[in-house]
Amino acid sequence: MEEFKFSENPSLEAIRKLQAKFAADRNWDQYHTPRNLLLALVGEVGELAEIFQWKGEVKEGLPDFTDKEKEHVGQEMSDVLVYLIRLADKCNIDLPSAVEKKMKQNEQKYPVDKVYGKSDKYTAYQTTENTSKVLENGEPGACGET
Ligand SMILES: [Mg+2]
Repeated sequence: MEEFKFSENPSLEAIRKLQAKFAADRNWDQYHTPRNLLLALVGEVGELAEIFQWKGEVKEGLPDFTDKEKEHVGQEMSDVLVYLIRLADKCNIDLPSAVEKKMKQNEQKYPVDKVYGKSDKYTAYQTTENTSKVLENGEPGACGET
């Protein structure tokens, strides 16, 4: 089976431009304040979550979803991404650059040799004077994000 991958286009910048034009054409820029966009984003995350609600654990690739459900998942993910990009635009955050920087930070926080196969939060791997100290406060695992 061929490995799943995204299409090359559109880029995040192309999506930013599309959404900026979409809003400008409708005179909606006035409503696209950072706070409004953040709330819209959270609302769309809720719509995405609603599709998965009550289904129990879902298999990778969504083999048990109908074509209609998978289409719906793509639509809600698109709403989430578009609002996130619009929010970044209105906050003057260069999102691709921020992602690259954050991934580098995550690589430092989660060195492969220390975290391989483990889901603990990064604080569990912090060292003091070359001595590895594992916290015992039961912080939830992060699995790559904080
Ligand atoms: Mg939606």
